[in-house]
Amino acid sequence: MKLPAASSPFAELGLSAALVRAASQRGYVAPTPIQSAAIPLALEGRDIVGCAQTGSGKTAAFALPLLQALDTWRPAWRRTYALVLVPTRELAAQVGETIRALAVHLADPVKVAVVFGGVSVNPQMMGLRGGAEVVVATPGRLLDLVERNAVKLDDVNLLVLDEADRLLDEGFAEELARLTALLPPRRQSLFFSATFPPAVQQLADGLLHDPVRVEMPATPGDEPPAIEQHAVEVDTAQRTPLLRHMIEQGQWPRVLVFVATRYASEHVADKLRRAGLAAAAFHGDLSQGARTRVLAELNSGALRVVLATDMAARGLHIPGLPVVVNYDLPRSPTDYTHRIGRTGRAGATGLAVSFVTAASEAHFRLIEKRQGQRVPRERVAGFEPGEAALPASPPEGGIKGRRKSKKDKLREAAAAGKA
Ligand code: AMP
Repeated sequence: MKLPAASSPFAELGLSAALVRAASQRGYVAPTPIQSAAIPLALEGRDIVGCAQTGSGKTAAFALPLLQALDTWRPAWRRTYALVLVPTRELAAQVGETIRALAVHLADPVKVAVVFGGVSVNPQMMGLRGGAEVVVATPGRLLDLVERNAVKLDDVNLLVLDEADRLLDEGFAEELARLTALLPPRRQSLFFSATFPPAVQQLADGLLHDPVRVEMPATPGDEPPAIEQHAVEVDTAQRTPLLRHMIEQGQWPRVLVFVATRYASEHVADKLRRAGLAAAAFHGDLSQGARTRVLAELNSGALRVVLATDMAARGLHIPGLPVVVNYDLPRSPTDYTHRIGRTGRAGATGLAVSFVTAASEAHFRLIEKRQGQRVPRERVAGFEPGEAALPASPPEGGIKGRRKSKKDKLREAAAAGKA
């Protein structure tokens, strides 16, 4: 017979009333597919390999069982029971915030320490003084803190690797090996990645014990997203006018544009604003409040264009985003997959447009190779590139013939995304 508390779909997964309440206060009514699949297995103590994209709800899929295990097996005061390794500062902050929010109703308080590189180490050492039950960290900085005796890992019972593919792309393989060698061999490990190239699979094989594989599409009940990819050849200096032209011609209602630097994010946003488009920058120098505001405005439609750096956009969920533009190409093929995966959700066709310049052509070819998919180069009338060192292009007639229909396709796809 079911207990009354089991009326919530989260309770039916085996979660305690305190966690069910916190999830519901965060607006989680029903579990996402990855949560339904992973939570009961994680609560049983199984190792898990989860194939999950950003936006699938994977954070709560590991945070909820992590907190339940911690609450059940309370370690000695402030010993580190759970370790979550993430590739970036932004993701560390988001994951830390989610775990704290889901822990609010537990009988005993949980201290969650968040540590990442790129900032002064001293405040983080202070934060770890006295210990923390949960540590969310980027590998390099954590190793540094271990070497300074600021944190001990010998009581870690639960290891989570979040965005394992990105951890390897960021060059953390060696730090991961050194850190995991410090953990007790008898532990539970939860491993999440959006992609599984051989290096990621190898990492999983080395860390997990008899894992269950959990694989789910990004959105509840939906097929994996359909994403239409385009590569537009353009001169470096023409990218902003071209972006503006495409947004206006394509009548794109909401666009996430990736740029390489904070400066570019501000600079391009400024130019678009001056051209009358509701645009905003989104990067790591903005306060959390400012970032939240930008996202809310993009979601509500008050903003049409957001110019984001990879770092800032990590882990963001923007429901129903019709178009993603790579103004600057991403550094790695995995980043490309992550970036374009932000569109094409909830059954709608998404549009991913990459600007390819003479200088970035070779890099884009590498991305295509790693994806195992070629994206035909296109040109937009009035923005044909003339930069030196442009690689050989198809014959004139071919370009012209293709150009018109592709442009129409862009427009149609954007309109479909809007629907
Ligand atoms: P993630 O994939 O963990 O980055 O989560 C993506 C977004 O989905 C975040 O904004 C979460 O707060 C939200 N989310 C996670 N689980 C649920 C759920 N069960 N119901 C509604 N939203 C959720």
